[in-house]
Amino acid sequence: MQADLLIVNIGELATTVGHSDRPQCGSELGKLAIYQDSFLAVKAGRILALGPMAESEQYRGPDTEVIDAEGKAVLPGFVDPHTHLVFDGWRERELAMKLAGKPYLEILAAGYGILSTVRATRQASLELLVQDAKQSLDRMLLHGTTTVEAKSGYGLTTESELKQLQAARQADQEHPVDIVSTFLGAHAVPPEYKHDSEAFVDLLIEEMLPAVAAQDLATFCDVFCEQGVFSIEQSRRILQAAKKHGFKLKLHADEIVALGGAELAAELGATSADHLLQASPAGIKAMADTGVIAVLLPATSFTLRSAKGADAAAMLEAGCAIALATDFNPGTCPTESMQIVQTMAWQVLGLTPAQALAASTINSAHAIGVANEVGSLEVGKAADFVIYDAPNLDFVAYHFGVNLAQHVFKHGRQVVRAGHLCYSEI
Ligand SMILES: [Zn+2]
Repeated sequence: MQADLLIVNIGELATTVGHSDRPQCGSELGKLAIYQDSFLAVKAGRILALGPMAESEQYRGPDTEVIDAEGKAVLPGFVDPHTHLVFDGWRERELAMKLAGKPYLEILAAGYGILSTVRATRQASLELLVQDAKQSLDRMLLHGTTTVEAKSGYGLTTESELKQLQAARQADQEHPVDIVSTFLGAHAVPPEYKHDSEAFVDLLIEEMLPAVAAQDLATFCDVFCEQGVFSIEQSRRILQAAKKHGFKLKLHADEIVALGGAELAAELGATSADHLLQASPAGIKAMADTGVIAVLLPATSFTLRSAKGADAAAMLEAGCAIALATDFNPGTCPTESMQIVQTMAWQVLGLTPAQALAASTINSAHAIGVANEVGSLEVGKAADFVIYDAPNLDFVAYHFGVNLAQHVFKHGRQVVRAGHLCYSEI
């Protein structure tokens, strides 16, 4: 059959195979199919075939666009399953405070941190939020990310949370990167509820969740479960209510203090628990037993100057599925690049490039419920892939701090050419 698009002379094509129905768990992580000297054929936005170069000719027809990869590496587009995409209010001015050793919870208590972004986001127009989000999506695409999750959580009023989610929906419609939305109204307790967080939890449950559900603005509901933010009991109340509205669940769990967030995620059947630096052995085991995906955010550990990140080795030992994300946000992790996360994965977490790739593609696709469609290069799946200016997979994690993504394809359409955006508004 004639392909619409044929990528030839691929130096190394690396992807997971056969994990669209379940993530790679424990010691399975990083099992890849690697094709050297290979081709990739695309038809109607989907993968038609791939394999050794010798088999490529049968897909070449008079109308086939042929691109020579010149011996470079082809990998699936990254799926970034944890971002705080939509906001106004960057916070570079907090760097000096952090360097002076002020703990994050103290910065938060002093009115900086997330609350300054909340002030800016509340004031921002929908148009400005969409424009800013699309600028970040452009950077993600340029670095090889083709699908992202996007959380609300900088509005913290019904109106401004809906505004953030509407901005994500509009950005999804107007930009090639696909967005899966998460309602994170329980990201922080807003200043007006500082002395009565229970009343804010009531507002979340009685007003915000039904409003988000009524407009079908989010697939997931997430809670920042942390000391001084939302307790285990409050997180349980919010997530149980969310479940009744049909949301799938996520949890910011055990990042700073070991509260038992991993255990709660397992108890509620959450899709993922994220951060997990302080997760207990029992919590890790409970997650493995119930299939909760551990979304790890090593770039956040790096910027927070944490001595070590989450205990990835213990999670793999217990049989957990690990996924990786940027945690893109204006405070603790202002990067859109999943390439730098590949580097942080070996630096901070001790994962190999193959493990990091699986955790950033098929497993991260599972963490946001899109693994049937994206996350691996297999016949029939969406043709979301990247040609890197690198000879192989390992090189992408190894040669860090620069952008190696050269050509990016979304649904079989070239959206980045020679390191520059080339899509027109769709
Ligand atoms: Zn987060």
